[in-house]
Amino acid sequence: MTTLMIATGNAHKVGEIRAILGSGFACSSLKESPNAPEVVEDAGTFAGNATKKAVEMAKWSSGSQPALRKVSEREDTIFILADDSGLEVDALGGAPGVHSARFAALDTGQTANSSTASNNAKLLRLMKDVPREKRTARFRCVLALTPVLRTRATDPSSVCFADEFEIQTRIFEGVCEGTIGFEPRGQGGFGYDPLFFPQGHNQTFAELSETVKNELSHRASALAKLRAALGG
Ligand code: IMP
Repeated sequence: MTTLMIATGNAHKVGEIRAILGSGFACSSLKESPNAPEVVEDAGTFAGNATKKAVEMAKWSSGSQPALRKVSEREDTIFILADDSGLEVDALGGAPGVHSARFAALDTGQTANSSTASNNAKLLRLMKDVPREKRTARFRCVLALTPVLRTRATDPSSVCFADEFEIQTRIFEGVCEGTIGFEPRGQGGFGYDPLFFPQGHNQTFAELSETVKNELSHRASALAKLRAALGG
């Protein structure tokens, strides 16, 4: 059984990751580690932010935190799994992209995440004159998987200053193509789901069942690659 600590405070992401991975993985989340450090997501790419979150959490956890001991009593490797994801809209030159969580706040200079309602309202406002055929978009998910190293190399190369945790980090990417609607539809999911029609469907992610979203989504696609890499 592979043990994963999911490095996100977003309960929706945790729920989706747990549901997609199923019972072959023992998962805990940041909710069970209230003292975990807050990671500033200031990289310019999804991969950069995902790596930063996974590496910082792995370093913090390498002191064998009690929360992690609870998840794995055995000597198996524990991995930190970080998810950085967002929406890329073609008519907006790829925005909101890495700024998806604080899209509305970009206008006010705030650094905190914006409410889902304000992000979605901004997206609809910017897209109000964009015709149906030009409303193409995609969700992208980048996962970073970093082992919690219990022992460190004692003789690091004098010419290689690369970080051990970074070197051992693996990246998995998933994309889900679709289009942006003209108004929010549906109650399920989270974030931009009520505005996103996955390709081949005439219901938004918020109208489709969780089971269907978890088969089609960017997160499902990235997790399928992770599962294959771990031999699961
Ligand atoms: P992150 O926590 O910095 O990765 O922020 C991701 C943001 O992208 C979320 O707050 C959502 O606004 C958006 N997002 C990512 N994945 C999804 C999804 O599956 N559905 C809807 N919105 C998503």
